[in-house]
Amino acid sequence: MVPLTVLKYPNPLLKQRAHPVTRFDTELGRLAEDMLQTMYIEGGIGLAAIQVGQLRRVVVMDLRDAPGAPGTEVEEGDAELRRNPRVFVNPAIAASSGETVSEEGCLSVSDYTAEVRRAARVTLSFQTPAGEARQEEIEGLGAICIQHEIDHLDGLLFIDRLPPLKRQMVRKRLAKLARSA
Ligand SMILES: [Zn+2]
Repeated sequence: MVPLTVLKYPNPLLKQRAHPVTRFDTELGRLAEDMLQTMYIEGGIGLAAIQVGQLRRVVVMDLRDAPGAPGTEVEEGDAELRRNPRVFVNPAIAASSGETVSEEGCLSVSDYTAEVRRAARVTLSFQTPAGEARQEEIEGLGAICIQHEIDHLDGLLFIDRLPPLKRQMVRKRLAKLARSA
């Protein structure tokens, strides 16, 4: 498997809205698998298809290796066992409650993290890669991660959620970094 290229800010594609998935075929399964492998290689916990240049509403996630996530105390060398891959097709937040602020980063935004305010708990509607409709209650890191990824599907980055003044400063800094890269 060849890892997919993760687009970096300010690539204009990251501001596009992804389209709903209507075909649940083997190609969709392959995209999800390639996204998961790419996410593992890049060391992320979530990835949206738009970040690899695909304008489709597909998100992958694996919180297993995240600090504080349950199930991380597995013997070394059991890399496969430590993984808990999730694929969400057409994910949508049906309900949300509470509020939480946490430090976020993004595979599409190099060398920058910031505190972002999100709902603490969400009810997520989604489909599996086979097209089955599901609903799930998610809280903690998973809730934060899925809100971050759904933002991607709507053309939003976590830096777009910062207060206006901070957002302006960050955009300038990142544009400068992108030019010098
Ligand atoms: Zn991201």
